Parts: sequence; C-alpha cells; structure tokens
Amino acid sequence: MGKRLLEMCVQIVEAQASAGMMSTEEIEQSLKKIYKVLQELDALEESGAGIEVPQAVSEKKEPAKVPALGKGPYESIGEDSVVCLECGAQFRQITANHLRSHGLTPREYKKKWGFRLKDSLAAKVVTRSRSESAKARGIPENLKAYQERRKKKSS
Ligand SMILES: [Zn+2]
Repeated sequence: MGKRLLEMCVQIVEAQASAGMMSTEEIEQSLKKIYKVLQELDALEESGAGIEVPQAVSEKKEPAKVPALGKGPYESIGEDSVVCLECGAQFRQITANHLRSHGLTPREYKKKWGFRLKDSLAAKVVTRSRSESAKARGIPENLKAYQERRKKKSS
C-alpha cells in the first residue's frame, strides 16, 4: 500500500509540475501535502470506515463447517453430520425421539423446514452407506427370489 501511495503522489505532483511552472520548493511542499492526504485516505481505507468491504473478504470470515440456521433445509445436511433446524444440535441422524422433544414428528419437521418427505434426516455418509448396503445385500436377493417365484407360478 505504501509503494502505491508514493506512486500516486509522484504522479499527481508530476501532473502539477508539468501543467505550470513550479519551483523545487513548491513541488516538495505539494508532494508533502498530497502524501499526507493520501496517507489519511489510506488509513481510513484500512480501518474500513465508510468503505464497503469486498464480497470475497466477508465470505472468508464466515465459518465454513456448520451451516447457519435459517438457510435452505439441505444446508443442514452435512457430509458427516446433520444439524437439527429446531435447536442447532448436530447428529449423525435426527431421530423421531429427538424431534418429539420439539413437539414434532419427522413428517412435521420435514414439512416445516421444506424437506421432501422421502428425504432422510441423516448425514450424507449415513444415507450413502445405508443405500449401498441395501444394494449389496437386500435388493438383488429379493429380486432373485421374486423371479424364482414368478418362474414357478408360470410353469
Ligand atoms: Zn433439535
């Protein structure tokens, strides 16, 4: 910032000097005056007074991990935790039992916060491992059994 300040200062004085006749003394004085003003502006900028904070800076300040309450419902579902939108507590999975403490059923909770009814109130890791294990165990087995039964019926 200091170097930029000096460059600006020199540019301003150069412009003034080339515009009219200035003595060395006048140039020096005006350089000092302008430098002081620029310094004050710079200090003001650094303290943030009266100047808008750029978007990128204010975003950095927000905590990245825990989703803030009041945002979209799906922001409460994290990779390995889910936040109860009623009380802000974190779980692997929000149970019906916990929701009862807020006087809600899972269905009411989903409705209230804008989830779809088929959404599971669990961390992504939990939901994923659950559907993977379902695929690995149950479904092909059941399907095989179902096909077997159909074969027997039709023959
Ligand atoms: Zn809660």
